[in-house]
Amino acid sequence: MGSATIDMLIAAGLLGAVLGSFYNVVIARLPAMLARDWQQQAEQLLELPDSTAAEPRFNLVVPRSRCPHCQSAVAARDNIPLLSFALLRGRCRHCRGAISWRYPAVELASAALAAAVVWQFGLTGNALFALGLVGISLILLAIDAEHQLLPDALTLGLLWLGLIANLDGRFAASGDAIVGAVAGYGALWLLFWAVKWLTGRDAMGYGDFKYLAAIGAWFGLEGVLVGLLIAATLGSLVGIGGRLCGALGRYQEVAFGPYLAIAAVILLFFQPLLSSWLWGGLGG
Ligand SMILES: [Zn+2]
Repeated sequence: MGSATIDMLIAAGLLGAVLGSFYNVVIARLPAMLARDWQQQAEQLLELPDSTAAEPRFNLVVPRSRCPHCQSAVAARDNIPLLSFALLRGRCRHCRGAISWRYPAVELASAALAAAVVWQFGLTGNALFALGLVGISLILLAIDAEHQLLPDALTLGLLWLGLIANLDGRFAASGDAIVGAVAGYGALWLLFWAVKWLTGRDAMGYGDFKYLAAIGAWFGLEGVLVGLLIAATLGSLVGIGGRLCGALGRYQEVAFGPYLAIAAVILLFFQPLLSSWLWGGLGG
């Protein structure tokens, strides 16, 4: 830590902004791609004609980005991370329609986190893995907040990435990573069925189990406990705050994924510190 020069941090920030602009594409398109997949599968099962067959190709690469208001293609000069949003003052060049604040927010968060990763881990293999965790968590946070959806491709991808990183014990011992993954999934699975049995309601989705399993694969059993504590605390604060302000109804579902995403990033940077507080506090 601390061996990073200012040049390295600036370069990491620029790389992070560019990565953030790719994350925005995933956030905008993956849910629609999945919805189309599910529709195709349902139609196949029901032996109905494929209603999506005539639709143009749609994936992470094609078609080019368009303004959602006037459908004009976004030119390369208007697609520069952060800079274009600032120069255009958040409006489309052609129709002046508002551009979602999510675009600069994700780019800015990605830039800041990439610089923080290089600050903490230097130019190492650990930093590459850490960039992966930060990127996938940002995407999951945004998609879950908007769609109440944690795509398997991302939660399970993060889980595999954590297990691979910890083959060399980068963030947790490899055995601890496996136990953590199982405990993360199992803890929320048990909670889910306990709440369902007691109240008949779904407290969360299976995506949340997989996300906490991924956190266990990265940070071990202790990471699961601390991560769950952080996410539940943040979720309760926001939930209570939202109800007090009248922004949330009494039984309105609140996505848990965004809090797990924040917990994962906090663990990445502060696990040793949190761990010493926890055990120091219990021991003293
Ligand atoms: Zn427009």
